[in-house]
Amino acid sequence: MTCHICVTCGTQFAASAAPPAHCPICEDERQYVGWDGQEWTTLEALAATHRNRVAPEDPGLFGIGTEPSFAIGQRALLVQSPGGNVLWDCVTLLDEETRRWVEALGGVRAIAISHPHYYSAMVEWAHAFDAPVLLHEAERRWVMRPDPALEFWSGETRELWDGLTLLRLGGHFEGAQVLHWPAGAEGRGALLAGDILQVVQDRRWVSFMYSYPNLIPLSAATVRRMAAAVEPFAFERVYGAWWRRVVREDGKAAVRRSAERYVHALETGR
Ligand SMILES: [Zn+2]
Ligand SMILES: [Zn+2]
Repeated sequence: MTCHICVTCGTQFAASAAPPAHCPICEDERQYVGWDGQEWTTLEALAATHRNRVAPEDPGLFGIGTEPSFAIGQRALLVQSPGGNVLWDCVTLLDEETRRWVEALGGVRAIAISHPHYYSAMVEWAHAFDAPVLLHEAERRWVMRPDPALEFWSGETRELWDGLTLLRLGGHFEGAQVLHWPAGAEGRGALLAGDILQVVQDRRWVSFMYSYPNLIPLSAATVRRMAAAVEPFAFERVYGAWWRRVVREDGKAAVRRSAERYVHALETGR
């Protein structure tokens, strides 16, 4: 029995003798099946060809990304906090070297993942660090490897500790969440946004999509609601899902004006 991993989205599935017939995450209209058809790998095979880079992003924040890039190519973030660290988002590869790095940085008290495209091998990480994985209950059906470590929350916000708060923003996924880190950006606050608020090439802006690979936009009402949901929180910086995809200054105003620009484009036809 093996826990197979989808090569295109990086999701690890529950143990089975043969690879699963399909990947529901890739068959969903927000993703795509690889151009050479559905392909599978395993953690062992991945570890033979890839390794993780763990590197500081900012004080109290470390990025963890796989090299060469695998599947969607996101990098996770480890937030160091006095009450315990949060692993924000996740990558598929977890090897002994990475485990030692993360332990040296203080381990993981809880894992929280923005949305199903980064569920990756979350159960492996949960077991390695004896940490729960906090997911929004609206995404239950996208869990491909059920496990008692997965903890589903409901509602619009979930407070953790040290003021760390998960906010359900929806949009890209109904239960898509972001993490507010009040101690981030030297105390001015930070939002760990995955691609729920997507930091774009002009890193003074973010954008919003139902599907990024297939370029399916969100409605004006949804974008307005997402921007309104972050309004009560103070944040200077917005960390996107890839290395260097960061709005470094005036993050809250960046989200506000990005939502206005998006809605304006939809409503005027630009
Ligand atoms: Zn997949
Ligand atoms: Zn996504």
